[in-house]
Amino acid sequence: MYGAAGLPLSAVCDEFQRGDDGYGFWIECPPLYPALASVALPGFGAAHRARMRDFPRMGAMILLVRDGADRAASNGRVRVDRRGRPVVDYRLGEADARTMRRGLAATARLHLAAGAREVLAQHTSAPRARDEHEARAFGGLSCGPNELTVLSAHVNGTCRLGGDPRTSVCTPDGAVRGAPGVYVADGSLLPTALGVNPQETIMAVATVVAERIAARHRPG
Ligand SMILES: Cc1cc2nc3c(=O)[nH]c(=O)nc-3n(C[C@H](O)[C@H](O)[C@H](O)COP(=O)(O)OP(=O)(O)OC[C@H]3O[C@@H](n4cnc5c(N)ncnc54)[C@H](O)[C@@H]3O)c2cc1C
Repeated sequence: MYGAAGLPLSAVCDEFQRGDDGYGFWIECPPLYPALASVALPGFGAAHRARMRDFPRMGAMILLVRDGADRAASNGRVRVDRRGRPVVDYRLGEADARTMRRGLAATARLHLAAGAREVLAQHTSAPRARDEHEARAFGGLSCGPNELTVLSAHVNGTCRLGGDPRTSVCTPDGAVRGAPGVYVADGSLLPTALGVNPQETIMAVATVVAERIAARHRPG
């Protein structure tokens, strides 16, 4: 296989998407380019160079964890500092860390089932799995700060919509409470994590907000 050619997002595994309470994980096969691989692979210098030599034989999977399983605690927040700059905090909660560990083991097993000889995880301990036993051991990896590389391309819900002003910034129409005439019509409106790629849902929500603004301001 060669990760930098062919279909950009070829397959997904939704077997574990729902989890015990609706918060599970989803596995995708993304494209893998040399620049992306070089920042994703652990190590520096000669060791890193040696790993990059394997690039033409490397395949990647993304493990998407639908976060927010612990409804009592939020994993992230965005605040404004004294100089008016946004400050983003994010910590993996214990419930989501458990899902992450289960997902790492499942992803390693999937790679091996697809014919991989060795599976690496983006973890500071640089674990490797060459058989089922080692793949299952990925389920015991710790997910503390700076141990596991966690990324988000789905940063949603920073101005969530809802009917309750205590838990939502915007009304169900997308209007910002306390700021007449200001509307939000993007991914920040989503009230919870989707657990799947969000673009279509964002477009649908933005369309609803746009239609409601148009209806409200229609002449006559
Ligand atoms: C690498 C990557 C891969 C992705 N792959 C997928 C995928 O395969 N499928 C999928 O469904 N989703 C995918 N996503 C997620 C998807 O692209 C985003 O969730 C979606 O584009 C968000 O839409 P949005 O309208 O909320 O925000 P954006 O698309 O980020 O739009 C926000 C806009 O606001 C503008 N802006 C910001 N600040 C200001 C300001 N102060 N004044 C004026 N304008 C401002 C920005 O320039 C930008 O144009 C991916 C995201 C990334 C980063």
